[in-house]
Amino acid sequence: MRIKTKLTLGVGLLFILIILLGSVGASYIHSLKKDTENILHDNYNSLLYAKTMLQTLDAQTDQALARFEEQLIKQENNATEQGEIDINAQIRHDFEAYRHDPLNLERLKTIRISVVQLMEMNMQAIETKSQYAETTAYQATIWIAITGTACFVIAFTLLINLPSSIADPIQKLTLSIKQIAANNYGERVHFEKSDEFGELAQSFNTMAQKLEEYNSSHLAKLMRQKKRIETLINKMIDPVIGLDENMQVIFVNEEACKVTGLLEDQMVGKSSKDLALGNDLIRLLLHDMQQKTPTNEPIKIVVDDKEGYYTKEFVHIEITPTGEATKEVVGHVIILRNITEYKELDFAKTRFIATVSHEFKTPISSMKMSLQLLKNKQIGALNEEQNHLVDSVHDDVNRLLKITTELLNMTQVESGNIQLNVEPCLPQKILDYALEANRTSADLKEIDLQVHQSPIAHSVLADVEKTAWVLTNLIANAINYSHDNSVIKIALEQTHMFTQITVKDDGIGIPPEYIHRVFDRYFRVPGTHREGTGLGLAISKEFIDAQGGTISVKSDYGTGSEFTIELKNKQG
Ligand code: ADP
Repeated sequence: MRIKTKLTLGVGLLFILIILLGSVGASYIHSLKKDTENILHDNYNSLLYAKTMLQTLDAQTDQALARFEEQLIKQENNATEQGEIDINAQIRHDFEAYRHDPLNLERLKTIRISVVQLMEMNMQAIETKSQYAETTAYQATIWIAITGTACFVIAFTLLINLPSSIADPIQKLTLSIKQIAANNYGERVHFEKSDEFGELAQSFNTMAQKLEEYNSSHLAKLMRQKKRIETLINKMIDPVIGLDENMQVIFVNEEACKVTGLLEDQMVGKSSKDLALGNDLIRLLLHDMQQKTPTNEPIKIVVDDKEGYYTKEFVHIEITPTGEATKEVVGHVIILRNITEYKELDFAKTRFIATVSHEFKTPISSMKMSLQLLKNKQIGALNEEQNHLVDSVHDDVNRLLKITTELLNMTQVESGNIQLNVEPCLPQKILDYALEANRTSADLKEIDLQVHQSPIAHSVLADVEKTAWVLTNLIANAINYSHDNSVIKIALEQTHMFTQITVKDDGIGIPPEYIHRVFDRYFRVPGTHREGTGLGLAISKEFIDAQGGTISVKSDYGTGSEFTIELKNKQG
């Protein structure tokens, strides 16, 4: 039965029974009242009149007789019982006769008997009527008890059944909804009845089933996507290692297994810190990852007896959790880019440049020597125009030689084969060599090379040739980027530990946005018109770094630049 019908029936029946109870009670009370009224009105009054009549009969005065008649008239008007009219008529007859013959005592006696008869009749009627009222009261009690009991039974049944029949399914449904909210989509409710709760259960189950279907299709989709990404990562030619926020390995691809020499099972799920204890590559990668600015240097890894070159890239995965403002790190990905191919091409290029520049150097040097011979007057005097041409070719040969030397030096730097010959030497020797090499070009621009030397007490530890080349390059740049008739200050200073050589010019200076790039290979400040390769400072830095020294620059754009070399002194 539907809950609505159940409620309507239960409450409706209760309502009807209450009305019935009220009506039965009211009707019985009414009939009891009527019975009592009847007794009072019909019989009690007759008794009263009869009693007064008896009392007045004894007085035998006119006043008493008048009073008797008054009572008799009242009694005549109150004849309610069967036979009462006859007795009243008998009393009237005897009373009339007695009034005409007051001495007839026999009549008086008859009247008295009739009045007593009247009293007995009414008393009898009172008894009958009170018995009848008793029956009515009894019936009323029975009916009220029956209706009351029915009311109680229905109300009690409703009290016991109704709250639980409504609350229990609601409670069950609430629990099931909570299960669904907790992603337990297999939850179902089973209400046997075909009431509203039965329909609700059916709708709930349909909803849960659809959610379950959606969830499993969603999950399947996610799984497919995961598989796709896993395959993609696996097929990558670059080794990839994924770590979670606790530095535990969550995935590795085949290439990563190859370069680390470990199996996937040996890595996934393990702490990278534990793995680092037994694996040099992982240790190096973790160490670099924890640096604020990891080095860009490629690393060499031997895989299957073949050398491979890789650059490292660390991606820190950050997400902003829903409802929060700050980001949090949820993992890291280490990617090793395989640059072996480029490295091999680079080696080939370096080897090619080295061979070419080496092959060029000898003929260029002999061309230079030939030009010097040509200018020698003992061989034969040249006219002005020939002299001019020879000077011009000499300049070009010098430039060619400079470029070839720079390229050759560069190949040494790039292949990591800088051959140093570090030995204690006097810094003046280096300075004098560089000054001599630049003297002619300084004179051409009428630039004054001013040298300031502090007392020199220590030898410096340096490769004389390479350091002289660096200083020559710095002075040549200073001359190149200075105005005619200016001054270049070259200072040589020594502390106990270090020797510093500074080249300061009042030239064009370097724009601040480019100053950090002047030591990069092939870098030239945009708009520089002088000829050059952009290699001089890069090579200088490599040479000085290789000797354990430093080279630095300060510049005010438009006012001049200052380059400083610092080298270690020979101790003891
Ligand atoms: P380059 O062969 O072009 O001189 P360098 O490596 O020696 O190559 O210098 C790189 C660049 O730095 C130059 O092209 C020039 O723009 C700038 N530079 C070097 N020295 C100076 C200097 N003394 N004054 C101004 N700019 C300079």
